[in-house]
Amino acid sequence: MAGEPQDDCLFCKIVAGQIPATIVRETDTTVAFQDINPQAPTHVLVIPRVHHRDVAALAAAEPAITADVLREAGEVAAQEKLDSYRVVFNTGSGAGQTVWHAHAHVLGGRGLQWPPG
Ligand code: IMP
Repeated sequence: MAGEPQDDCLFCKIVAGQIPATIVRETDTTVAFQDINPQAPTHVLVIPRVHHRDVAALAAAEPAITADVLREAGEVAAQEKLDSYRVVFNTGSGAGQTVWHAHAHVLGGRGLQWPPG
C-alpha cells in the first residue's frame, strides 16, 4: 500500500537501516544520504521516510512531506556550502528513474549544463 514500507524497495531498506548508506542529514520525515554513483562532487539523495513511487505520487498523498523533502534539499546545499546547485526528480523510466521510491537528487560542486540531457 502507498505510504507503507515495501519489502522490495532499496530506499525503504535504507530508511529502516537494513542497507548501509552514508547519511548526511535526517529528520522525522526525511533521510538524506550520499548517492552511491555520484554525478557531481556533491550528489546527495533526499528521500521521504514514507514510500511513494515518485514525486507526483508523494505530492498528491503527502504535500507537507513533499515540502519537507524540498526544504531538506536546501539544507543539504547549505551544509555543503553550495551557492549553485540543482534539485532533480527523475520521474518515469524514460527520464532515468531507476528506484521507485520518491527521491530528490541534490547536485552541485561543478558547473551544470542547461538543458540537462
Ligand atoms: P534515479 O535513477 O533517479 O531513480 O536515481 C536513483 C539513484 O540511486 C541513482 O543515482 C543511484 O546511483 C542511486 N543509488 C542506487 N543504489 C544506491 C544505494 O544503495 N545507496 C545510495 N544511492 C544509491
